[in-house]
Amino acid sequence: MKSRKAFERKEILVKKGAVVRQLTLTSPVQILLFTLFLAFLFWTVQTSALYFFGNDLVTQRDKRIAELSLQNEVLTQELAAYRARARGAEALAQSIQETHKEILNKVDELVSEELKNAEDGFERVSKSMKQSGLSFDKLFQKAHQNQGVGGPFIPDNGAELMDEVLADRIGTVYQKLSKLETFSYLKEQLPLGEPLKNIRVTAAFGRRQDPFTGKMARHEGIDLGAPEGTPVYVTSAGRVTRAFTNGAYGKFVEVEHEMGIMTRYAHLSQILVKKGDLLQIGDSVGLVGNTGRSTGDHLHYEILINKTPVNPYRFIQTKREGKNV
Ligand SMILES: [Zn+2]
Repeated sequence: MKSRKAFERKEILVKKGAVVRQLTLTSPVQILLFTLFLAFLFWTVQTSALYFFGNDLVTQRDKRIAELSLQNEVLTQELAAYRARARGAEALAQSIQETHKEILNKVDELVSEELKNAEDGFERVSKSMKQSGLSFDKLFQKAHQNQGVGGPFIPDNGAELMDEVLADRIGTVYQKLSKLETFSYLKEQLPLGEPLKNIRVTAAFGRRQDPFTGKMARHEGIDLGAPEGTPVYVTSAGRVTRAFTNGAYGKFVEVEHEMGIMTRYAHLSQILVKKGDLLQIGDSVGLVGNTGRSTGDHLHYEILINKTPVNPYRFIQTKREGKNV
């Protein structure tokens, strides 16, 4: 028996009225028709699927686009807000630094003025030291060391946080302040006080005619005229190193102060202290007299720095005239 093929040649009889016609469907024709049918079927299914589900996809896509653009808009707005805040913070930081600088300028101005006053105030001391061959700057350095001044406290990360210019300025102002402190220390320690309540110079410091021999001689202190028994005051805090009758000086007191400075009080009628006594400025060391090599009642007063006599009158004047001393 002959096996049936899928697209076996087929004969079809078509009756139209009384006429019968025969149609022959060969295998290729059948394959073509079947292929056309499959193509039509596939197109129909696809179109229906697109019709039923396609809109949904489009809607989803449009929705996603809308969401994304909304997100984009929100992000753009947030970014703008952040930028505005950043600009605000920057402006604030700037204005804080400006304020710091303004305050610092004001402080610098005040400190500089004070420093100028202090320097001016010590000008007489400085000059008298120079006349005796001493350096005021060296004394100043010594005073500075005596104070044991530390540096300004700036935490490790502080300098990094700070504007470099600002940090520099703070350093400069601090140095000035530190100098001012040293001047204030000098003001405390130098013998700037008055040894008598009323100052009347009867013989100046330096070369003069000796009242006994008539020859030119050095006068290593000043003579201050006052009646016998007038109290004599120590001119700065210190310790009594000598208190006795000493030939030419008569009844005599020597006081040691800070930084290698000494004061001497001579020709006293009476000594009121003893060796080793600690004195505060204004304490009485004795009374005016005419003992030793003296031609009348008066106080012979000396100031020595590193054993070199300096003009004591300049120190008295400094206290009297100094704006800041
Ligand atoms: Zn004298």
